[in-house]
Parts: sequence; structure tokens; C-alpha cells
Amino acid sequence: MNIALITIGNELLAGFTVNTNAAWIGNHVIQTGGNIYWHQTIGDSKEEIHDSLNQIPKDINSVIITGGLGPTHDDVTAHALYEYANDTPVFDEEYWLYLQDKLAKRNLKLPEINRNQAMKPEKGTIIPNPIGSARGLHFHVDGRDLFILPGVPREMKAMMESTVLPWIADQSAGGLTVRTIRTTGIMESGLAEKIGNIVDALADEIKIAFLPQFTGVDIRVSSADKDAVNQTVNEINLHAEKYIYGHDHDQLEEIVGQLLNANNLSLSTAESCTGGLVGHRLTNVSGSSDYYLGGIISYSNSVKENNLGVAIETLNKHGAVSYETAIEMAENVRSKLDSDLGLAITGIAGPSGGTDEKPVGLTYVALADGKDTIVKEFRFLIDRILNKNASCQAALNMLRLYLHNE
Ligand code: ATP
Repeated sequence: MNIALITIGNELLAGFTVNTNAAWIGNHVIQTGGNIYWHQTIGDSKEEIHDSLNQIPKDINSVIITGGLGPTHDDVTAHALYEYANDTPVFDEEYWLYLQDKLAKRNLKLPEINRNQAMKPEKGTIIPNPIGSARGLHFHVDGRDLFILPGVPREMKAMMESTVLPWIADQSAGGLTVRTIRTTGIMESGLAEKIGNIVDALADEIKIAFLPQFTGVDIRVSSADKDAVNQTVNEINLHAEKYIYGHDHDQLEEIVGQLLNANNLSLSTAESCTGGLVGHRLTNVSGSSDYYLGGIISYSNSVKENNLGVAIETLNKHGAVSYETAIEMAENVRSKLDSDLGLAITGIAGPSGGTDEKPVGLTYVALADGKDTIVKEFRFLIDRILNKNASCQAALNMLRLYLHNE
């Protein structure tokens, strides 16, 4: 089922807002059995909206439109669509009272400008908005279904999920199954080599894509044949097990949290170059207080020495970014915070501070468990923010491998 998509907003054309709605809609429509065949991004004007609607290929009978449903002067989408559908908006007193009541509960008064959000079509229907005030519209014009949704990504997604995607599923023969295998600690080429035989033997209908990022490589497997996708995912799991931390929407910090919980182990962190990023990611997971005790952000040498207890001799002899300092950071944070495990990171994030011997991107990660302390050296050699993210991912992955006894 081919579908047209029109995303509306001057901010999208100017690049002030990235068009994430188009990516999300394309991805979810294809998994539901539809296919975005035609897409235009246009500005906030009635003329552009009418012009775009007139350009949609004749054989496309379903159209999704997002953006410009709000109450401000640049929100012209509803007017343009009422005109296009030859419909007359009528004032919906009941919805207006509902909106007033909703704001009154928050001690706020609804501005008159919001009245246009309380209009409803005569011929078309309203698409309810479960989380916001701008309701969507559904028109049927000349054999074509038009779904108009707000631009706010959260609201658009909620309305797609509650109304539009079920409608597409009803009209379609079945969607594409898409699964993602999430890896880290291996380069794209290394991964391609490991699973090369599997990829070569795949039937044409099964598509594989390697999606590298600086924190790991995702492998996307897709096909209309759900069983074939699951079988391929299982085979890849077996061949690249060590590098796979999860699937689909799994995050490394969630997986590590589950492993700490399962092993009944607590963790503390000592972070230098990552400035608390590991603690931030760990505490993004609800329930992390069950296993994460806290950390010391020992960015300066004085905090490393005075608060974490790294020996001044170690810092002077080997430097803050060294194998030896990383060991003391991990062991000391573990004993100071009385946790089962201590995880430490020290590195040169850059762009300054690098030398021939210790270049930008050099990072040491140490993990202490009271018996042994393991340390690993990484050389990321990229820019500051990427170095911080790569160091954080490497530290979480080291913890994952330890908890897997690998
Ligand atoms: P509102 O009721 O808030 O006015 P609206 O339907 O009028 O919603 P817009 O005014 O077009 O939507 O956009 C609201 C917010 O959503 C803006 O911050 C905008 O940048 C963002 N947004 C709009 N379209 C997209 C898109 N295609 N992708 C990502 N973000 C978008």
C-alpha cells in the first residue's frame, strides 16, 4: 500500500528542526504493511499545501500530513485542508469547555487564540490527540484518505499509534519484520567478516544493513518473512555473541543493570574524562538505585588525590591518564563507596592535552572486584564529545563482559 507523506514547517526547510517525523513515520508505516512512496517537505503556507496535494501521484490513495495544527499565525494546515476538502469547520463547544477545564486545573486561562483548535469538520472526522490539545483530522476526498496530524513528535507518534497505523494495518496484507542486533567493541569490517558466510547465504528477500556509529554497529535484518528474520537473527547471535549486547531498542546501560541485578552486585564509578557520563547513563534506567551506589567525578588531579585517594607518587610517576592511575581509581572508589565493583575511566578527551606518547583519545578503563582489577587501554582518537561517548560505552561494555564471565 503506497502512501504519500507531506511534512509541513518552515523550520524543517531551514534546517532548524531535523525532520524526525518523516523518519519515524517511514519506519513505522513499513512495519505495518504500508510504504512511504512519495514525500515532500514544504513551508507553512496554504498555497504550498494545496500545491503539494495537487502533485501527489494519482494512484496514491492515502496521505499523511504533519505540522501546523497549532494555534499560532503560522499554523495554517487545518484551514488549507478544510478548503481542499471543501468542508466547513464548526465550533465544538464541548471540546472548548474541555480545554478550558483542563487548563483551569493547572490554574491557567485558555487564550482566545486556541479557539481554532476547538473547530471540527462537518464531513471529515476528528483524530483524537491522547496527549495534547491539537486534534487531528481525517478527510476523504475524491477516493483518497487524508490524515492530518500535529508536528510535535510525541503527539504525532501517539496519534499514529492509536489511529493511523491500525488503519494502515487493516488495509494491508502484512508488514515488514525489522529486527536490530546491537553490537559494540568491534568495527564494522570485523563484524562483516564474522558473519560474512551467513550474509552470503541469505535469500534475496532478506535484507541486511550494517549501521555503524562511534559507540557500536547495529545490524538491521528485514524481510516480509518473519520466521526467516528471526532465524537469521539467531544465527548472527551465535556467530558474534561476544559483541552483541542487545536487540531492537535495548540500551547497554539497561543490559548492564539487568546483569548487576541478576548477579546481586553493587557498583560505584570513578570518572575523569567522562565527567559523570557513565553515572548519567546508569541512572537513566529506572530502578538503578538497586545496584548503582554512586560515583566520584575526579576530573582534577587534586580530587583524584584528596577525594579518591590516588597516590601522589602514582600521579607524578605515571600521570593521570595511565594504567596505574585507572587501577587505583577503580579500587579506591570501590572501597570508599563500599560497593562490590568499582569502575574507573581516565583518558585524554582532547582536543588539547595530547602528546606523541599519550595522544588525544587515549583512555584507560579499570574494573575492580576486590580480588582482581582488570584494565584495558583504548585509543579512540576522535573529537572530545565522541571520545567521551566512546569511553563511556567501552566502560559499560567492559562491565557487561565481566558480568558475562568473558
Ligand atoms: P503545536 O500545536 O505545538 O503548534 P503543530 O502541529 O502546529 O503543533 P508545528 O508548529 O509545526 O506543529 O511544530 C511543533 C513542534 O514540533 C516544533 O518544535 C517543531 O519544530 C516540531 N516539529 C514539527 N514538525 C516536525 C518534524 N517533521 N520532525 C520533527 N519535529 C517537528
